[in-house]
Amino acid sequence: MRPDIERILAKDELGRDDLVALLDISDPDEESALFRRAYEVKRKHVGMKVYFRGLIELSNLCVKNCFYCGIRRDNRAVKRYTLTEEEVLDAVRFAHAARYGSVVIQSGERQDEEFVSFIERLVKRVKEVSHNELGITLSLGEQSESTYRRWFDAGAHRYLLRIETSNATLYKTLHPVDHDYEARLEALRTLYRIGYQVGTGVMIGLPGQTTEDLADDIAFFKKMDVAMIGMGPFIPHHETPLAGSIPDWKEQKELQLRRALRMIAAVRIHLKDVNIASTTALQAIDHVGREMGLLAGANIIMPNLTDTEYRTGYQLYDDKPCMDENATMCTACLERRITSIGETVGYGEWGDSPHFINAKKH
Ligand code: SAH
Ligand code: SF4
Repeated sequence: MRPDIERILAKDELGRDDLVALLDISDPDEESALFRRAYEVKRKHVGMKVYFRGLIELSNLCVKNCFYCGIRRDNRAVKRYTLTEEEVLDAVRFAHAARYGSVVIQSGERQDEEFVSFIERLVKRVKEVSHNELGITLSLGEQSESTYRRWFDAGAHRYLLRIETSNATLYKTLHPVDHDYEARLEALRTLYRIGYQVGTGVMIGLPGQTTEDLADDIAFFKKMDVAMIGMGPFIPHHETPLAGSIPDWKEQKELQLRRALRMIAAVRIHLKDVNIASTTALQAIDHVGREMGLLAGANIIMPNLTDTEYRTGYQLYDDKPCMDENATMCTACLERRITSIGETVGYGEWGDSPHFINAKKH
């Protein structure tokens, strides 16, 4: 191992150059040392318990047109769907019976009143059917302050909204002109002000993204004082403007996975007590990608509860895994994989991040 990497891994506080050096590691031994260090930090600050968040992919209707996303408005090849209230509640009952601590309702973006009130009602119903036990995270994109407030008042307490990249110039290249980096930042600030536990994150390995950008993303997470981080590798989708943006994808995807794992490790070392999701996009590259994420410092898994009938309709990127497995099968195999790496599942707990709990005490 290079002496400078050894020195960085022994440090308590990392600077920008340190983060860049860690993210740029290519030697397998150095990489293993990085993951070991991140795991130590994870064990000390959040423990070895994995929390499940049941993911419900509510709808693939979307008014936005992000260049990277498979369900963007202009992709005519997608058959659009929206789950009914009963279909969502079936998934919720499953999550409750399986003693997941919480559910995540995710969807393409819509701001119309019909959608806003549908979500408001759903949140209330989730609380009812789970006797107030299930935590509710929403991941429904940018909304007005009054919408965020209505959903919060209905009972949602966490919100996931990725910044996608903290580099405003790069953000512009990934979105049509009607998307605004400042508006996204403002949405994150509004969520805080209302009292949500806020999660954000980025895509890793975007075309045009540098290692310095990723180091700055980590600094951004720290500055925003986020409680949860959800990050994953960028995976090109064939029906999007970024389809050919990584031309030798087959050779690149292993590197893309490793880059994402190093990012998880660096975030864990730098932010210490936050919740970090091991996302499905990791698993899309390698079938044990999510376990690799846990070993690199992540502590949250979001098993997919969407009925297999709809799953092919929610392909944000190519090669999305588990298209033909139902939730029961997924939970059983997940638990086996988690215990196989010596960790346990925090059943029946909300699993707020120690960072959020500590912040509330001050
Ligand atoms: N519409 C909501 C939630 C659904 S999209 C929103 O945009 O916030 C959820 C996440 O999927 C996005 O934040 C983005 O980071 C990720 N995503 C979309 N396309 C992707 C791709 N091609 N590769 C990897 N992640 C992607
Ligand atoms: Fe819509 Fe979200 Fe995809 Fe953008 S990333 S097109 S907002 S679903």
